[in-house]
Amino acid sequence: MEENSNFIKTIIKEDLESGKRDKVVTRFPPEPNGYLHIGHAKSIVINFGLADEFGGKTNLRFDDTNPLKEDQEYVDAIKEDVEWLGYEWEGLFFASDYFDEMYDRAVLLIKKGLAYVDDLSADEIREYRGTLSKPGKESPYRNRSVEENLELFEKMKNGEFANGEKVLRAKIDMSSPNINLRDPVIYRISHATHHNTGDKWCIYPMYAFAHPIEDALEGVTHSLCTTEFEDQRPLYDWVVRECEMEATPQQIEFGRLNLTNTVMSKRKLKQLVEEKYVDGWDDPRLPTISGLRRRGFTPEAIREFVKAAGVSKGYSTVDAQMLEHFVREDLKLKAPRTMGVLRPLKVVITNYPEDEVEWLDADINPENPDMGTRKIPFSREIYVEQDDFMENPPAKYFRLFPGNEVRLKHAYFIKCNEVVKDENGEVVELRCTYDVETKSGSGFTGRKVKGTLHWVDATHALPAEFRLYEPLILDDEEESEEEAENKSFLDQVNEKSLVIVNGFIEPNMQDAKPQDKFQFFRHGYFNVDPKHTTEDKKVFNRIVSLKSSFKL
Ligand code: ATP
Ligand code: MG
Repeated sequence: MEENSNFIKTIIKEDLESGKRDKVVTRFPPEPNGYLHIGHAKSIVINFGLADEFGGKTNLRFDDTNPLKEDQEYVDAIKEDVEWLGYEWEGLFFASDYFDEMYDRAVLLIKKGLAYVDDLSADEIREYRGTLSKPGKESPYRNRSVEENLELFEKMKNGEFANGEKVLRAKIDMSSPNINLRDPVIYRISHATHHNTGDKWCIYPMYAFAHPIEDALEGVTHSLCTTEFEDQRPLYDWVVRECEMEATPQQIEFGRLNLTNTVMSKRKLKQLVEEKYVDGWDDPRLPTISGLRRRGFTPEAIREFVKAAGVSKGYSTVDAQMLEHFVREDLKLKAPRTMGVLRPLKVVITNYPEDEVEWLDADINPENPDMGTRKIPFSREIYVEQDDFMENPPAKYFRLFPGNEVRLKHAYFIKCNEVVKDENGEVVELRCTYDVETKSGSGFTGRKVKGTLHWVDATHALPAEFRLYEPLILDDEEESEEEAENKSFLDQVNEKSLVIVNGFIEPNMQDAKPQDKFQFFRHGYFNVDPKHTTEDKKVFNRIVSLKSSFKL
């Protein structure tokens, strides 16, 4: 967070200087009910980054208090993603490891007259709670004796009641202007098998009660969360105090990160996955960490992006192009350059000797000469891009058309003499001549051409599949936020978000491995897809095109 001095950092600094704290402990607390997304990356960068900066520690803690939605698959995926982003946690914890402790603290509250078992239904509780303008109403069960509450709570634990029959509520203040303090539910009954504790429990603590206890038990000093929890802070402090926790963590809120042209909540992401709008949680169109990884984004780019987006209190929607900017920056010097033809058109160089092959020299990355050079074959038949030829071009078209001469990158000038069509009138082949004098690197200055084309040699090229992506969600900028809220986001799914084309790549790409990244001349940065690449055919995900209008 170096360059990005932020308000949380200021608080931590003051706490250390004043002696309020003698160390910094943070935690990243995902609920294992889905895969991590780039919004979580912000939380990860802030939690790990700040602790690191002050010589502190960060725990990874799974907030698994809701057995119905949680799964081991998510636990494993989250661990993988945090590590991939480049962070090492100190302790690995599960909220469910503390269920005994939480139960004891709830009993303590009952004994102090600060919690009671309520028989009201969920609907009644909501109704009794009141609104911002109307105070709440006390439950008729609010004044049960400590003995009766202890007995009922024990029975709840022993499975003597059905789901929803009873809850445990904190006894705080039904007329508080903060609705969160109007006797919040702190335990509920759920006869469900938990991914970690199995069938040991049939009562589960609510997040608002569990979270402060988890933080305190781990000695977390600064509990960083997003602003929707701001109104819960008084309850957080109440739980820490009344449960007599030894440590006193402090909750601090920051703004959620949102991106244009995508959805970020796990609920929506899950819907896209389950209803097969996309190819799994790691679909390269999703803003999940695993999707971004498969698309080809790097941890460096994601970290730099999150830092640049900043740590303000405000809720920010950041242009997805800003993320793209950072991956280009990161790959510029790292990614080897290569040529690939996405939609091939055969070119026969009629004056090039048959059966001859030349191996031309090309830089692997002209911006990073240390990467060395590669060899590219050139012979009588090559492929160029269909888009690089027009039979009847408009003015200022500098690519191939009958009679025009262009430069082939790393090779020669060629001139188009003849167009071959099939029975449907489709152009299937160009017949060209090359000029041996114009060889790249020979210092030829005889004449100039305006177009430079990429190409691959037809006899040596390897087949490849290219997957080109557009935004998954089409934002409607005309629409008010309220209109957008009321509409299903599924209506905004872009049906053309994935285009698959088949083409050819240079033969030296034979050894490219899944997750290797390349810059294809004129086409942008691509990643070798780990899921669909086979022995016979490499599949490339376009990470980003080369240019963007985005300026930082
Ligand atoms: P979602 O609504 O996407 O399911 P969540 O907040 O329920 O998100 P958790 O697993 O509870 O997801 O989140 C773990 C941590 O990541 C929390 O501290 C949460 O505040 C933070 N977080 C989640 N989404 C974002 C976001 N978009 N920007 C910043 N932090 C986020
Ligand atoms: Mg959540």
